[in-house]
Amino acid sequence: MPKATLPDKFKQFGEWYDQVSEKAELADVRYGVKGFVVYRPNLMHIVREIYETLERHLIADGHRAMLFPLLISYKNLLVEKEHVKGFEKEVFFVERSATEALDERLFIRPTSETAIYPMYALWIRSYRDLPFKAFQSCAVYRYETKATRPLFRGREFLWIESHDVFSTRQEAESQLLEDLETTRKTFEEFALPFLVIEREPFDRFPGAERTLAYDVPLPDKQVLQSATTHLLGQRFTKPFGVTFLSPKGEKAIPESTCFGPGVSRIAALVVSVHGDEYGMVLPFKAASVQVVVLPIRNEPALVEYARSVTEKIAKAGYRVKLDDGGETAGEKFYHWEMLGTPVRVEIGPKEVESKLLTVTRRDLRKRESVPEDSLLPRLASLEKEILAELSRRSWEWLNSNIHEASTKDDLLAQTKGAGGFIKFTFCGREVCGADIKVKTGGYEVRGKRADVEEPHALTCTWCGEKGVELAYLAKAY
Ligand SMILES: [Zn+2]
Repeated sequence: MPKATLPDKFKQFGEWYDQVSEKAELADVRYGVKGFVVYRPNLMHIVREIYETLERHLIADGHRAMLFPLLISYKNLLVEKEHVKGFEKEVFFVERSATEALDERLFIRPTSETAIYPMYALWIRSYRDLPFKAFQSCAVYRYETKATRPLFRGREFLWIESHDVFSTRQEAESQLLEDLETTRKTFEEFALPFLVIEREPFDRFPGAERTLAYDVPLPDKQVLQSATTHLLGQRFTKPFGVTFLSPKGEKAIPESTCFGPGVSRIAALVVSVHGDEYGMVLPFKAASVQVVVLPIRNEPALVEYARSVTEKIAKAGYRVKLDDGGETAGEKFYHWEMLGTPVRVEIGPKEVESKLLTVTRRDLRKRESVPEDSLLPRLASLEKEILAELSRRSWEWLNSNIHEASTKDDLLAQTKGAGGFIKFTFCGREVCGADIKVKTGGYEVRGKRADVEEPHALTCTWCGEKGVELAYLAKAY
């Protein structure tokens, strides 16, 4: 077995992440435009699997795919006041060609409400057109001025945005729960944990009436928001003139929601949450090569037998690769462990003779002997076992990073020590949240759990005013 080559991710997360990104050929930061990275093939495999999963669940709950242009008329941005205030500083404008100024000022989508709602106003006419549920898979652009890290924060990121329109508030509210289900099912397929947290009124998406966010603690105990879903009410339908005729023939304004799972960020979670000091650790679904068959020496008898085993695995539908390159076995082990390949099958003279294969699972780095006849059923069970093990570990990680503070001193001490999420009774006031942030060196009120009711104390743990909820505090990306 090769030695670990990466730092301990729990102690030096930034360094670990940069190294794994480079050595496993994920994001390339040498592109030469600040805040933009190249997604290399090993990363794009993970990204495409995440897209496939999210799209499958969205389509199953009644969504259809659409695609809007990248550029939006600046006039559209001015229609909803709060939205423009929230985004104007972050948008890229497009104002000229090489030789002349454009007829009108355009901007590149930071999110697509202002592109989509004017078209919805043309498409939606009657109650029979509702609910209208559609999404696009695309990149969005924001002029980030904070420090960037590939996939976590950049000026371009990949996501899906669904924009749904309903006749009633009740249907819109229940869409938030469907979006929660889509996230839950998708995260389950990648063995990822999350907390679904309702953001405070002062921390919502510009224009939203309710915002649910999916937060995951990273190895450095800072929290990453990986997806959000928003209840927009009539905040966009009304100013953009989206109306429908009710069954009685009356004109009405519909309600809407939007859901934005951050595909780049979910990919970053797959890498960061599961990885170890040997590289990535992937569930079968995320792995471009699920099984590698590896003759320990480049000898014809070994390669020939390895090829027959490879063919058998391929026929069963796995993404399998025969590594008969010229490197030493140690170099090959290193390479496939770095890529997170879930299962390795080693072929040496002993294996050829006995037909007893040496199989190593990446998650536990544990070897076992499997008779060739039992290889396929064992691969099927390994696929499930590895997903279950990664899921067990990642949920354990999340749960071990939820702490509770019952006094102000306790809360202060926890922000200096344990990190992760700290639960406390909050008064709901923006000024109190701002004070906490200053005095704790950056801890933010993330909000309360959206999926369960949690009891809280009578007074705010921080300021002593009336307590309104049990809130979660964390440092965030
Ligand atoms: Zn307070």
